[in-house]
Amino acid sequence: MNVGLTLQQGRWKATARRVAREILAPMASEIDREGKFVRAGIEAIGKNGMMGLCIPQEYGGQGIELLSTVIATEELAQGCASTAMCYVMHTCAILPIVAAASPEQLEKFIRPVAEGKILYSVSASEPGSGAHLWHVDSYAEKNAGGYVVNAFKSWATSAGESDYYLIPVRSSATASADELTLFLVSASDPQVQPVGKWDGLGMRGNSSSPVKFNNCHIAASQRIGHEGIGFPLLIAFNVPVYLLALSGLYLGLAQRARDVAVEHVKKRIHADTKNPLANLGVVQRYIAELDCDIEATRAYLYEVTRILSYLTSMLMELAKADLLEKIVDRFYQEDALLIVAKAKVMATEMVLRVVNKAFQLCGGTGYRRGHEIERLYRDARAGTFMAPDNDTLREIIGRRACGLPYPWQAGSMGAKG
Ligand SMILES: Cc1cc2nc3c(=O)[nH]c(=O)nc-3n(C[C@H](O)[C@H](O)[C@H](O)COP(=O)(O)OP(=O)(O)OC[C@H]3O[C@@H](n4cnc5c(N)ncnc54)[C@H](O)[C@@H]3O)c2cc1C
Repeated sequence: MNVGLTLQQGRWKATARRVAREILAPMASEIDREGKFVRAGIEAIGKNGMMGLCIPQEYGGQGIELLSTVIATEELAQGCASTAMCYVMHTCAILPIVAAASPEQLEKFIRPVAEGKILYSVSASEPGSGAHLWHVDSYAEKNAGGYVVNAFKSWATSAGESDYYLIPVRSSATASADELTLFLVSASDPQVQPVGKWDGLGMRGNSSSPVKFNNCHIAASQRIGHEGIGFPLLIAFNVPVYLLALSGLYLGLAQRARDVAVEHVKKRIHADTKNPLANLGVVQRYIAELDCDIEATRAYLYEVTRILSYLTSMLMELAKADLLEKIVDRFYQEDALLIVAKAKVMATEMVLRVVNKAFQLCGGTGYRRGHEIERLYRDARAGTFMAPDNDTLREIIGRRACGLPYPWQAGSMGAKG
């Protein structure tokens, strides 16, 4: 159903659905089996104009269209969840750059994205941070030509495949945990080295390996915004897009699992009953449960995304007026992080319930390696511990409900540590 979508959102949904069905789905099984990077899928997304769905029109994009982005991700995930994951991590790099980049940087780093010519990775996680997304230990050292960074980033989706890594590091060796600077580091820099080949349980086409930034010299022209402004940029323009798009991915994955199960029960006929499984009341009730779960999540996610689209456009105006510091206050006032946190918790847990029941309906047939439901089951598992993991998010939601500060705010969990 396209009820409640604008004409533009409906068009992107149709485009993403076509790409998912015609290009991504036929390759998904091979990608999963061989752990091959999803290059052809990313190229197809680019050719169909979807790499920059949240880029403002003045830089060649479609406007800050977060709902189109979420819906496109939802559709793409129904063809290949690995491709959708690379799309999520690419997309969430865009708005921090748009918000703080100089006119020259916008021409270099944003306009080509809208033309499908750049793939981004965001590499925040470090061994010490894990699911505490807000904490990094690595730092930049200033030198005459710019900066030197030594960092071990423990995960980067599209590692070794993307064109640039957006990395947050502390502004200096003595900077506190909330004084971050963002850099865009070119993947062609020989000092940037992906470590090993990604071999996950699911999401096997992602190339989510660690990346080493080894005495990496970074020019000042690759710094996004001024020194120390990385934290507000991430909180306002990266984390919400990441969590909303990730929720869209798992929503799409749940929808696909449901559809696979429905197809299966319509076709599977036992010799004694001579009736398809779909005729059994218990099976019909399973499917009704799947539909209710999926549709409740979809309704919440779309509504939250509409709110965030509006808020993000307002925050972008503040950013363009050079009022970046005010953004985070505004964001906290609106408690916008909480509604996206809830969307991520709902979507990533809903998908586990749905895939589990859909798997049950597909029986031992679905348990065979190579059956689609078996792949969806493995792909679905990553959502709850992708940072911030759901236990941490629940803690944050509960803290805020009790009037306590966010864990990273000074005086709580050691923002200065
Ligand atoms: C497929 C995939 C792709 C990824 N892509 C990227 C990427 O592109 N960029 C990137 O930066 N990172 C990426 N990551 C990393 C990811 O976002 C997490 O940082 C990582 O999965 C954390 O793993 P960990 O073992 O360090 O978890 P830990 O931090 O050790 O957490 C383990 C568990 O402990 C519990 N826990 C932890 N902290 C708390 C708390 N405060 N309160 C309550 N319980 C808690 C939770 O149950 C949590 O699941 C990716 C991960 C995967 C699996």
